[in-house]
Amino acid sequence: MGAETRRVVVATSNPGKLAEIRSVLDVPGFEFVTAQDLGASALDVAETGETFTDNALLKASAYRDRFGLAALADDSGLIVDALGGRPGVRSARFAGGHASDRENVRKLLEELDGFGLEMRAARFQCAAVFLDEQGEAVVACGLCEGRIGVSPRGNGGFGYDPVFLPEETSGRTMAELDMKEKNLISHRGSALRALRAELLEREGMQQ
Ligand code: IMP
Repeated sequence: MGAETRRVVVATSNPGKLAEIRSVLDVPGFEFVTAQDLGASALDVAETGETFTDNALLKASAYRDRFGLAALADDSGLIVDALGGRPGVRSARFAGGHASDRENVRKLLEELDGFGLEMRAARFQCAAVFLDEQGEAVVACGLCEGRIGVSPRGNGGFGYDPVFLPEETSGRTMAELDMKEKNLISHRGSALRALRAELLEREGMQQ
């Protein structure tokens, strides 16, 4: 580790998310570590916020307080227009407290049963938060517009990917994209790229 390298603890235990964060946020002088890298367990932070930004801030604050380092967190979910914006911040728990991805997808398809394609507009939304050592936050958001399909397709990704048809993939679901393709258009990829730009500007670095 170089003399001026700053360690940032990432509020996730999901290896896929961590890999994405490390690849997108290649900001010189920052090293992204997990609770496990610091010899601890991931924290179980209650996501009680009303918005994705609130929840990302809750997670980043808990990690910053626990480890005394700058922290990075993201929170995301699916917004379906015909359901008044649900499942939204409750995306992970749509079909119940410990629901599996499959159960959440089944509930979503049941609620949209009988809705034509024009009624199935939806978007993924992500808030990414960097909280520095002094508690100052940098927030960036990302969106991915699309529609909910009528049946699941594809084996990639996670969550609602098998039923999400992004606008720009000519009928392929998010789960039919490889990780690189997904990152280029995803809400999380967009939020992380925006956060990277903000951090570089804040650190007085060229993009
Ligand atoms: P979190 O940001 O990990 O808390 O994500 C909350 C929930 O939103 C996940 O459990 C998924 O159900 C859903 N979700 C978030 N991002 C994605 C995605 O990229 N694809 C599919 N589902 C997602």
